[in-house]
Amino acid sequence: MLSQRISSVYKRITYAALRAGRNPEEIKLIAVTKSHGIDKIKEAAQLGLRIFGENRVQEAKDKIEDLKEFFNKWRMNIEWHMIGHLQSNKVKDAVRLFELIHSVDSEKLASMIDREAEKIGKVQRILIQVKLSDEESKFGIKPEDTEKLIEFCSKLSNIKLEGLMTIPPYFENPEDVRPYFKKLRQMKEELVQKGYSLRELSMGMSHDFEVAIEEGATMVRIGTALFGERIN
Ligand SMILES: *Cc1c(COP(=O)(O)O)cnc(C)c1O
Repeated sequence: MLSQRISSVYKRITYAALRAGRNPEEIKLIAVTKSHGIDKIKEAAQLGLRIFGENRVQEAKDKIEDLKEFFNKWRMNIEWHMIGHLQSNKVKDAVRLFELIHSVDSEKLASMIDREAEKIGKVQRILIQVKLSDEESKFGIKPEDTEKLIEFCSKLSNIKLEGLMTIPPYFENPEDVRPYFKKLRQMKEELVQKGYSLRELSMGMSHDFEVAIEEGATMVRIGTALFGERIN
């Protein structure tokens, strides 16, 4: 049952935080609803979840429209996060739909977001997606190019950079992912030392979020552990 899965995930978040000497309240749960229908999302919202993550703009757009009335009726303050790769031709919609875009990985994308945000009088919150391995298929900026992108973003007045995000390679054993989470945390700390204001670390998914929390995650993106296997 969804209610049990939610409490189990919260419990695991809490214990991972406590093991690391952290306040569990520092950690935000992003419920990843891609491929799941709006009835699941309604149920999750009624059970208290407030931040939903989607990886496709069109899918998110349809769901957000369909859910608008429901969320208004119950006066639920829902946040939608874009966690997938963002294509140029979807930037306009994304800026209108999402409170936070986790996947900014180029100056071009940052400029486009800034321009669209300006048009609607918004300051778009973003994270920079960092690619910590050489896997060809993954998006994200290289660690050595990250500071330059941050510097670039800091000059754009309609975006607000809040932190870093990563999707590490998959390992059967979550312990093997730890070095990647550690690396992202170290990058953040070094950048903060240099004076950049970065609060968030978006890292950790269903099978490795506890390790991510031990290494400093402030946002965990969890789908399967909450909603079960995806249908597609
Ligand atoms: C699908 C997805 C998740 C959630 O994955 P689960 O393993 O189902 O928890 C997290 N982050 C991103 C970027 C995703 O695309």
